[in-house]
Amino acid sequence: MTGRVTLVGGGPGREDLLTLAAVRALAQADVVLYDRLAPHECLAELAPHAELIDVGKRPGHHAVPQAEIEALLVKHASAGRHAVRLKGGDPYVLGRGSEEVLACHLAGLRVEVVPGVTSAVAVPGAAGIPLTHRGVSHLFTVVSGHASLTDAELGHLAGLDGTIVVLMGVNSLPSLTAGLARHGMSAQMPVAIIERGFHPDQRTTIGDLADIVFAAGRAHVTSPAIVVVGEVVRLAHDGDASAAELMQRAAGFAAVAP
Ligand code: SAH
Repeated sequence: MTGRVTLVGGGPGREDLLTLAAVRALAQADVVLYDRLAPHECLAELAPHAELIDVGKRPGHHAVPQAEIEALLVKHASAGRHAVRLKGGDPYVLGRGSEEVLACHLAGLRVEVVPGVTSAVAVPGAAGIPLTHRGVSHLFTVVSGHASLTDAELGHLAGLDGTIVVLMGVNSLPSLTAGLARHGMSAQMPVAIIERGFHPDQRTTIGDLADIVFAAGRAHVTSPAIVVVGEVVRLAHDGDASAAELMQRAAGFAAVAP
């Protein structure tokens, strides 16, 4: 029996945001290596024949190192099994998916990649924030906040006049906001931080470039969270329980261009 690997984008964490292709792959899996950001609570039902292996980070536990995840995928597929790698969001958006594909190819294994709903777009949407809106923003850039951005990158981002979406950006928020301000972005540019998108305790914190670090500190914002910088934040509506407050704040901002 020939083994294979399916890299599955699991979406932003809610079971009904899995694609049909993802559900099919899980149903046929012999082993599932999953992240904490992917929907994992329902895996016993979705992958009834599979051994389930948690390779994600948990408080107090270390994530399985990337090289080990790749070795596990290769080991299981080489033994003739169908190994599903279930990842949060889309496998090819800041998720090291292509490294896993390469490792499998190097081992001569067949790999299929199932796209997923990326949190970069879906989580702002869950808070009622559209990334584009005619007359407000016609572009968005998705960046990793894992490492601090270079001065050149900050300069380009500030000059784009579009929406900036930062993943893994909670720790680097101070250097991001200071860098964008240094490159001329308005201190009143609205910023939203959406924590735990699509989970029951989803929460949005709103501020502007000048005060969002303070607001995030006061609210004890933690990962996983998405940071959105841009005029579109003014359009936030009916996202979650804090929507009313959001609307009030948004009304306080200058009127949005038609
Ligand atoms: N490939 C994934 C992103 C992996 S990087 C995707 O396409 O969505 C992990 C980061 O994604 C987290 O640190 C956080 O910034 C973001 N993220 C993923 N799911 C999230 C969620 N449900 N709520 C808030 N942020 C999320």
